[in-house]
Amino acid sequence: MFFWILEMLFLVGLAGVPGWFMGGALGAALSALIAMLIYGLSLLWKLDRLERWLSEPVLRQDPPWQGVWREISVRVQRLLRQQEKLAAVHQKQLQDFLQAVQASPNGVVLLDEQARIEWCNDTAAAHLGLDVQRDKLQHIVHLVRDPAFAKYFAQDSHVTETIIEGRASTVLNRQKLSVQLHTYGDGRLLLLTRDITAVAQADAMRRDFVANVSHEIRTPLTVLSGFVETLQSIPLGAEETQHYLQLMSVQSDRMQSLVADLLMLSQLEGNQLPSTQEKVSLVALMLQVTTEAQAFSDWMAKNGDGPVHRLKFAPVPDVHVLGTRSELLSAVSNLVSNAIRYTPLGGRIELHWSITPEGLKFAVQDSGPGIAAEHLPRLAERFYRVDRSRSRETGGTGLGLAITKHVMQRHGGELRIESVLGQGSTFKLVFPQSRVVMASAEAA
Ligand code: ADP
Repeated sequence: MFFWILEMLFLVGLAGVPGWFMGGALGAALSALIAMLIYGLSLLWKLDRLERWLSEPVLRQDPPWQGVWREISVRVQRLLRQQEKLAAVHQKQLQDFLQAVQASPNGVVLLDEQARIEWCNDTAAAHLGLDVQRDKLQHIVHLVRDPAFAKYFAQDSHVTETIIEGRASTVLNRQKLSVQLHTYGDGRLLLLTRDITAVAQADAMRRDFVANVSHEIRTPLTVLSGFVETLQSIPLGAEETQHYLQLMSVQSDRMQSLVADLLMLSQLEGNQLPSTQEKVSLVALMLQVTTEAQAFSDWMAKNGDGPVHRLKFAPVPDVHVLGTRSELLSAVSNLVSNAIRYTPLGGRIELHWSITPEGLKFAVQDSGPGIAAEHLPRLAERFYRVDRSRSRETGGTGLGLAITKHVMQRHGGELRIESVLGQGSTFKLVFPQSRVVMASAEAA
């Protein structure tokens, strides 16, 4: 600045001297004025050149002039480069941040002070059915039409979340979203969404499970306490007393089976996956299963006063299954005892093991009542029963197939059910090759 004032004074002085000689004081003033004007115009011209030079797309070239203007140009250029770099860093940080928010499994919507949409990630768009471009600056309440959300939005405080229906909801599969508003900045709003469908389903399942267990325990307990009351209040003969005690024993057995199955389920859920180190001899396992099956069938025949089942046990391959013995025994026994319990006395039951390219297969085929197709997909659900009274009469807990399915999943295998109403059923277990070793190969 000081330099330009000096330069201007020098030029004005220089122009004023000839003006003085030509026209006295007036001449000097006029030439000084003209000199100031010319100097001002030249400054403007230089500034214009500088501005055009700085606005060129490539800033790198040297300024095509010398002196103080060159100095100014270089400094401004340096400043602009620094600004450019800083802006690029900020841009990169913003992109990284947006990418991180985009990758979040939860939905994020940024709203302005009037609750209009500024930005949202893909998850929020999918949860709420928003279109980032189309819905920009639209009021959120106009787009999220669930009445629960409108009510929540109208509240003064949003300390807790609210649950609304998600856009992906269908008649059969309801999508549940947890949404919560947070205030930030100068009255702006952040809307977070979280898909809690699985959590809500697990919650409902847990409630159903507890209700079912309570119901299953309450029934024998009520019967037991009724008998106890009868025995305490009415004097009975020895035969009658024996009869009541027999009935009580059935109920307590039922409770014991239920508790045993519940313990088994909780073990399956809590324990680590079965090891691949423990070798379970199939021959020994089946010896136990067939002995128990024969005894159970005899007991049924004796109790039901009818002919015994025609049990047929095909030869068992000499292999070892890698897994947990107690679990495998439970999976196989459940299928065999079901076949005996649901097949009328005198019916045919066949047990068959085979080694196939798919893996080791076990099949229990019976000539029982069969199961209608609509029940098959739900048969292995906990407490799902087709024939409720037959299940109870024969000491069923409603958990047998659920346990078998769980055991098979833990061993990398599966439970398959084939049945036609009135034509018997076949329950199959399939173990993957990786869980089977030939006993003879091992000995070699
Ligand atoms: P439960 O203890 O009641 O037998 P399960 O889970 O073992 O429970 O079996 C579920 C239901 O599947 C049974 O209640 C029964 O209705 C049906 N079921 C199982 N096995 C057979 C079978 N071999 N034949 C006919 N129905 C069967």
